[in-house]
Amino acid sequence: MFEEFEIDPLVLEAIYEMGYENPTPIQKHAIPAILQKKDLIALAETGSGKTAACAIPICHLVDTASTKIQALIVVPTRELALQYAVETQKIGKRKKVSAFALYGGEDMDLQRAKLKSGVHVLVATPGRLIDFIYSRAIDLNHVETLILDEADQMFGMGFYDDLEFIIQCLVHEHRTLLFSATMPKEIRKIAQAHMQEPEEISLISKKPSPKQLSHQFIYCPNPQTRREELLALLKEVKPTQCLIFANSRREVEALYRALKAQLSNVDFLHGGLEQKIRSVIMGKFQRKKIRYLVATDIASRGLDFSHVTHVINFHFPFEAETYLHRAGRTGRSGKTGTCITLVIRRDLPKIHALGKTLQKEPEWLRPPPSSPSQPPQKNKCRGKRGEGES
Ligand code: ADP
Ligand code: MG
Repeated sequence: MFEEFEIDPLVLEAIYEMGYENPTPIQKHAIPAILQKKDLIALAETGSGKTAACAIPICHLVDTASTKIQALIVVPTRELALQYAVETQKIGKRKKVSAFALYGGEDMDLQRAKLKSGVHVLVATPGRLIDFIYSRAIDLNHVETLILDEADQMFGMGFYDDLEFIIQCLVHEHRTLLFSATMPKEIRKIAQAHMQEPEEISLISKKPSPKQLSHQFIYCPNPQTRREELLALLKEVKPTQCLIFANSRREVEALYRALKAQLSNVDFLHGGLEQKIRSVIMGKFQRKKIRYLVATDIASRGLDFSHVTHVINFHFPFEAETYLHRAGRTGRSGKTGTCITLVIRRDLPKIHALGKTLQKEPEWLRPPPSSPSQPPQKNKCRGKRGEGES
């Protein structure tokens, strides 16, 4: 029950309206700490409810009599900024808390006007935020809480210096909250330099991914016929909603065309699309208007697609960690999910390594001809090239 926290009844009402009945474990631990205005490092897996863990106490603390920015949340991507702002807006709806997502690719004049009209909770990507700081178009003097969300991802994307700069810009007294799924050394560094005896909450379990998730693999003897294999698989599995990952923009588009010829409600997403279009596609996918979304890894981190029943790796990801992030798009919030990976010969050693990470034997829908522990011979006939960009 959310009543266990002493929060504004208007915020409580909004939470129940959203259909949240009980706090998730990270919310149970983080909400009281944030209400006590402590610095905090909170580590929890994706899908554990970190957004509301932060947005609930923040909405409670916002003084709506003021029109100043009181909480600043820095997130790695535009999509996450939007998602975070929407969730905060919902939680703060009854209390009339205004949340806004500030990110690149949108008109700066419109963003400036929105900020002028009064924003309490600002969710921003580092680049655009810094543009606004430089052009003195933003007043951060009343920020009481700085939140770094998906901190590990931001460091992974090379935002360390940007974050340092943003932190330096907040010269007045404030507290800092850091949310992450893992604990890279940069987090320690930031904590030591800028946080005051932060409380640490770690709910990361030893198991690398949720147990409601099943991991299946299908061996494709001929890399050239993978698209046909995928189509056959989709027709057999009939996923309710499915996210299909490929390693290149070109393959994403090619796959999209191949699927669209035979299935309905297909769309695609990659970093080469205009921001507006990306937002529209994400929205449609979240509202289940799209059944099959073909995407690059732009869709693999942090985003909440709670309805996704299947994640399919058309290409095996370059790194095991990416596999976990992709797979983590399904089986969220207690639901079950399936991750199916198309495997070609040269992927076999990686599958073996992944099995160790997942701490289970790979479950083969169609096994490779020889033992997966055997290293494959040098492969002359490789699949399509150009699997490099994202
Ligand atoms: P994280 O940031 O940890 O990856 P999110 O904040 O995106 O997780 O939340 C994951 C999903 O869980 C979202 O769909 C969100 O609406 C849902 N959720 C969050 N808190 C609760 C709750 N207390 N009860 C039910 N669903 C919740
Ligand atoms: Mg999150």
